[in-house]
Amino acid sequence: DHRDLHSFPTRRSSDLFNYSTKDACLSNKTILVTGAGAGIGRTAALTYAQLGATVILLGKTVSKLEAVYDEIVALGLAEPAIIPLDLKGATKQNYIDMSSTIAGQFGHLDGVLLNASILGELTPFTQMHEQIFNDVMKVNVTAQCLLAQTLIPTLLLAPNASLVFTSSGVGSQGRAYWGQYSISKFATEGMMQVIADEYEGSNLRTNAINPGATNTNMRSCAFPAENKDEIAIPEDIMPLYVYLMSDDSLEVNGQTLKAQ
Ligand code: NDP
Repeated sequence: DHRDLHSFPTRRSSDLFNYSTKDACLSNKTILVTGAGAGIGRTAALTYAQLGATVILLGKTVSKLEAVYDEIVALGLAEPAIIPLDLKGATKQNYIDMSSTIAGQFGHLDGVLLNASILGELTPFTQMHEQIFNDVMKVNVTAQCLLAQTLIPTLLLAPNASLVFTSSGVGSQGRAYWGQYSISKFATEGMMQVIADEYEGSNLRTNAINPGATNTNMRSCAFPAENKDEIAIPEDIMPLYVYLMSDDSLEVNGQTLKAQ
């Protein structure tokens, strides 16, 4: 099985190399996942729910969020909440309202997975469109900043809280034609490091995941011709997603970790 080739994790100490998720390791935790209706975010939400968490499903397309909600309820797991929010159009007030709704309903948040993002388009640098550049920056950077700003106070109310950003291989090494997306992921890693440093020593830890090539809609847009059987599926990369939400990672802060 090609999936055996994924060394996991590549940048962690060897005692975590075979990190395996334990049943109910996320019980009593409330975890918000953005982009929870599709791709990696959908699988992360289902995985967190299966391990005992109450999940808050945030995303743009309500029908996709409802389908994930139905799957979780059909499995007899803790009832999720749905928050429809378009990260491209939302205003600061929308984020403030969203955050106070969560604080009112759940009291605190134990984890936030900032997963939703957009690719824009792959194009030569001199041909990047200003509108697409602005859209990618809005969704991948500004919206992540507003989510973090408004959710951190609710995270700080938890005994221990984990804020997880999503980067990419092109978030630490630029690559030709990846233009605005690569730039936005460098900004994501910078934002993660700023927050991690500010809250060092507190009950909030902040890290980023580089998922690696994973079979989703976004991956198909970037690499339409590749053989999808040769890359990971979202389920394969879940150990790191669980690790960063579990109490096993309490001492980890300011890191970008590779899921494969
Ligand atoms: P998908 O495109 O499959 O899913 C993206 C998710 O983000 C969808 O649920 C989508 O919702 C949501 N989303 C997009 N735009 C908005 C918006 N304006 N408002 C709210 N939600 C929005 O992507 P992946 O699952 O592949 O990617 C997940 C993360 O992993 C991303 O941050 C990506 O950059 C990163 N990544 C992925 C890799 C891969 O190989 N797949 C590799 C490296 C990094 P909707 O469907 O409703 O539009």
